[in-house]
Amino acid sequence: MKHLLAVADLTRDEGDHLLGLTDAFAEVGRRRVPKVPALQGRTVSWLFYEDSTRTRLSFEQAAKRLSADTLNFSVSSSSVSKGESLRDTVQTIEAMGVDAIVVRHKSSGVPAQVARWVDAAVVNAGDGWHEHPTQALLDCYTIRAHLGDLEGMRIAIVGDIAHSRVARSDVWAFSLLGAEVTLVAPPTLLPPNLDGWPVRVSHDLDAVLGDLDVVYLLRMQRERMTEALVPSLREYTARYGLTARRVDTMGDKSLVMHPGPMNRGVEIAADVAELPRSAVIDQVRNG
Ligand code: ASP
Repeated sequence: MKHLLAVADLTRDEGDHLLGLTDAFAEVGRRRVPKVPALQGRTVSWLFYEDSTRTRLSFEQAAKRLSADTLNFSVSSSSVSKGESLRDTVQTIEAMGVDAIVVRHKSSGVPAQVARWVDAAVVNAGDGWHEHPTQALLDCYTIRAHLGDLEGMRIAIVGDIAHSRVARSDVWAFSLLGAEVTLVAPPTLLPPNLDGWPVRVSHDLDAVLGDLDVVYLLRMQRERMTEALVPSLREYTARYGLTARRVDTMGDKSLVMHPGPMNRGVEIAADVAELPRSAVIDQVRNG
């Protein structure tokens, strides 16, 4: 596997292999000097056309721990702001001699397009509504670390599924590893067509919470919405927000997850993010 563009392209063996590699790398992270020479002499560059906190820092941290050289590139302070095209920018970065490019873009399909232009390996760090494969891998790793094998596990993904690349990658990753996935959202926040998605659908969070191993909350992706899709955030929170009262109806061992950034008080109550069953910080660490 040269590029990592979408979970939908992965086989079960590739998914298991990546999670196994993560085990070895997590062990490196616990050492007093958390560094190995695996990528010594290689150069990794970033091409982020959308904001990021966790993804960007995780890639940087991972590259350093693997001893790669890094070429930091900020779209906002580069010639992109002078109108340079994506293709010219990519070719410029490649001419610097990079071995891998990590791409985030607001349009679906850009990382795949970049992969067609360059010889370097390309990693998709989130493209529009399409996929966020490294988020899905770290999510699977986190669930496995807390609860064991995903086979037969019941996982609900709650919230703005329609605009979420995390939901698209997680649905494929969770079901690839054998979990049963339920999407929980008002009809306006579901994709219009779910043909081929290996999921069940519910519009009632309270009805599903008691049976879940994992409740995975999503942020309302307001930057991708062209119209108001819920009557008000207050009403959304009343029906779909994870409050302490709702958590009390969950099984003792069940986990609460969120990819971040959290909108506390909207999809997740401030105190719920701090509960021992919240894996949010572990997700970041595993990234
Ligand atoms: N950080 C995730 C993403 O980039 C989720 C989010 O923004 O809500 O898609």
